Amino acid sequence: MAKIAFIGLGNMGGPMAGNLVKKGHEVRGVDLAKANLDAAAKRGVVAAADIAEAAQGADVVITMLPAGKDTISVYAKSGIFEAVAKGTLFIDCSTIDVASARLAHELAAKAGMLSIDSPVSGGVGGAEAATLTLMAGGTKQAFDKARPLLECVGKKVVHCGDAGAGQAAKICNNMILGVSMIAVSEAFVLAEKLGLSHDALFEVASTSSGQCWALTSYCPVPGPVPASPANNGYKPGFASALMVKDLRLAQEAAAASGAITPLGALAAQLFAMHANHGAAGADFSSIIGMIRGK
Ligand code: NAD
Repeated sequence: MAKIAFIGLGNMGGPMAGNLVKKGHEVRGVDLAKANLDAAAKRGVVAAADIAEAAQGADVVITMLPAGKDTISVYAKSGIFEAVAKGTLFIDCSTIDVASARLAHELAAKAGMLSIDSPVSGGVGGAEAATLTLMAGGTKQAFDKARPLLECVGKKVVHCGDAGAGQAAKICNNMILGVSMIAVSEAFVLAEKLGLSHDALFEVASTSSGQCWALTSYCPVPGPVPASPANNGYKPGFASALMVKDLRLAQEAAAASGAITPLGALAAQLFAMHANHGAAGADFSSIIGMIRGK
């Protein structure tokens, strides 16, 4: 069983750390927020005073932090590489920009560590139920070592390629999701104007060429998919603010790489507008309200 230092015990990190404990691993955790540290302790995570204490004697360090600057700050400024043995495996599960992910790999390699970026998909529900999808970037050696741990927190683990490939897969996937949710929402709003019922549109589109996940798993109107957040006032779910974050990361990556993504750019603007008008915490499928003009 591994000795794991887990840094960032928020909405996602807390349950993920708890699932590692459930699988028999020894997890020492740290978080800037005492409430999150206390909640993780209830899941069997040993609370550490600081990053160096959490990392002492660890075989693996997992980070689950808000943004690229946080991962880089932990890697570059916390003294963590001095607190662990050479060859320790660093797994960054945060969703961050591709450039920071590659820098994190470089910092780890320079310090003699193994590393992978491994963002996740599946939300807080997936983190609780250990059913996340994990998309990893890094060397095969690092991935092979990480895989059994990733399988403790998720049901699907994919090695996407070299350093940063996990983040690339995450933002490409979420760009598809953001754009397709807007397309599905526009179709339902057009149907309403044309007097076509939600059920009729769903029955046709879900078995025709308009079929997509945003329609069949996350339908933005109540009724056709009983488990979609639309049936519960768009709560809980995948917050619009997080969709804005991921679409902005996709746009940064598109600008840096020269990819042309006009629909991704428009989706980023529309979700930002939606989030700024009081919907930051609502599930992203609530964008249908803005499209209706409300
Ligand atoms: P969160 O804000 O709930 O948790 C982040 C935690 O990191 C906080 O508890 C914060 O106190 C802690 N933290 C920040 N800097 C720290 C530091 N230097 N040392 C120790 N702790 C520190 O966020 P979350 O929802 O758990 O998301 C974490 C990551 O997962 C983000 O990158 C997010 O984009 C990604 N993600 C979130 C979801 C979701 O549905 N919430 C889904 C997929 C991916």
